[in-house]
Amino acid sequence: MTLRTKLAVIAVFSGLSLWAVNYGVNNLSMAPPTKPEWEIMPLEELAAGSVTVRFTGSTTLLFDDGATSWMTDGWFSRPTFIEIITERVEPDLAAIDRGLKANEVDKLDAVIPLHSHYDHAMDAPEVARRTGAKLYGSESTANIARGWGLDEGRIEVFINKKPIDVGDFIITPIESNHFQFADPEIAKTALDLPAIDSPLVPPGPITSYRVGKTYVLHVEHPQGSFVIVGSAGFIEGGLLGFKADVLFLGVGSLGEQSVEYRQRYWEETVGRLEPSTVIPIHYDSLLGEPRGPVRGHSALYGVMSGADNLNVLPYLDENLSRSESVASIATLPRFIEVEVLPAMKTR
Ligand SMILES: [Zn+2]
Repeated sequence: MTLRTKLAVIAVFSGLSLWAVNYGVNNLSMAPPTKPEWEIMPLEELAAGSVTVRFTGSTTLLFDDGATSWMTDGWFSRPTFIEIITERVEPDLAAIDRGLKANEVDKLDAVIPLHSHYDHAMDAPEVARRTGAKLYGSESTANIARGWGLDEGRIEVFINKKPIDVGDFIITPIESNHFQFADPEIAKTALDLPAIDSPLVPPGPITSYRVGKTYVLHVEHPQGSFVIVGSAGFIEGGLLGFKADVLFLGVGSLGEQSVEYRQRYWEETVGRLEPSTVIPIHYDSLLGEPRGPVRGHSALYGVMSGADNLNVLPYLDENLSRSESVASIATLPRFIEVEVLPAMKTR
């Protein structure tokens, strides 16, 4: 075989392997840690004045009370495995377009990344630009917006526990901890150097989207209250004094942590807030564009970190059956509007 033929064979073979790896990582997913009977069924007709939610995936949620609408994260791009390893991660404008259309939204009052990792904050400035929303978050999130060229007047940095009014929604950002990765190497790259201290211009490595501050959002509305915990971390006593009717509970990566950590997380969230309904979020794949049924994490991620450990279904099941406050657990269908706080609630 001539050198040229050998090189051609290697090139074709490595191209095919890269494609196979990319395909495998993107498409071979584990089952999501949910039960079919948990899924909220959309009502035929939504009562005027009720607060509704639409779920894209991860922790991107769209809330609407008929007069005001706002979104957490607004993350629609799903960088491929190849883009991640070649450090060319950036917002996918076509995916953002499709994501907003699937949510049937072209105008938003606010977009709020829960922290500044790429899977939360990367697309938010473009979502704000397209929908006229104001972008709220940490200084790091503000620097992602500045790097994208969003007007300074549209960016507001949160002050811990200082509520903002978005229509009838009173949203209180509460500083918390990010999920603590069990793997020390991942913990170091994901959580060290915690701030983005100058405008961030993509494309770049996912590690350039540093965590910044992590917020839990407490939301008060005339129809009731809810809390969003995007990342499965906590500060002991951090939610003391807060209550909520509904809790959106981030369970991403929780399966890789110790039983003790997981139980403390439950106590510091569900235990403190005493919600009647728990809605798990951030349990789905971070790869592959969000469409169709919600998929679990990539099987390759499962193999690398021990698939059994990643299954948080028994954790949710056991804690729910023991909980005195929680009456129901619910999971959200993708993109379909469902009621989260019914109108006419007697308080
Ligand atoms: Zn994160």
